[in-house]
Amino acid sequence: MRGLKRILTGLLLLALAGCATGPTFFSESYLSDMASQQFEQLKQEKTISRDPEGNAMVRRVSSRIAETLGPEMPQAQWEYVLFEDDSANAFAMPGGKIAVFTGLLDYVETDDELAAVIGHEIAHVLLHHANQRMSAGVIQAAGGVAAVILTDDMDSDDRNLILAAYGIGSQVGAILPYSRSHESQADKLGLRIAARSGFDPRAAVRFWEQMNEANPQSLPQFLSTHPSNETRIRDLQEEMPEALRLYEASR
Ligand SMILES: [Zn+2]
Repeated sequence: MRGLKRILTGLLLLALAGCATGPTFFSESYLSDMASQQFEQLKQEKTISRDPEGNAMVRRVSSRIAETLGPEMPQAQWEYVLFEDDSANAFAMPGGKIAVFTGLLDYVETDDELAAVIGHEIAHVLLHHANQRMSAGVIQAAGGVAAVILTDDMDSDDRNLILAAYGIGSQVGAILPYSRSHESQADKLGLRIAARSGFDPRAAVRFWEQMNEANPQSLPQFLSTHPSNETRIRDLQEEMPEALRLYEASR
């Protein structure tokens, strides 16, 4: 029991620490396989758009980004799908799966702007954020179990205090800054990916500024966990000189 308590204490501390990068427990090939299966399922369940212009745009932008990232993602089996869905959303999955929803295209005027979004989404993949998120979920779950067991012989007031601290600590300490840091990392890397693929990185700033002015109710889902737009635009501007250099070099 004492050995178990030591292990659990370790997990609890890890859960409360809330590190910025986070450990990864899952192998990349396992995640790719899982993502492929989920993507297949999505294609069965959702309607794939037949809009020729939208499809052409998604293919044009995604294939150039896939070409750029080829050497960095040699195992990827790239797929780009435009789904018929009014929500303004896009995501990428390990293994090179890119999904864009038709609702997003209402906000996107140029290839450069779409590249800003796809660059951001694929940056999450390159940075192993799915893996870190899932691993953080495992740690958090284990930490919760640990807190319950470790406080078993305490009197109930102390115990409730610790469990409450755990609940709050794991939310604010681990989950929130973690997501924000992921978003900010993906913004910066995404900008470079788009620029290296020959898309004007300045479009990212224009796109997010437009989003800023859009009706909050109509904001895309993928913004909900994102940092404030001021923070985002500051991050992008900080990264812009390097991105412009890469953009020029790509042409
Ligand atoms: Zn994101």
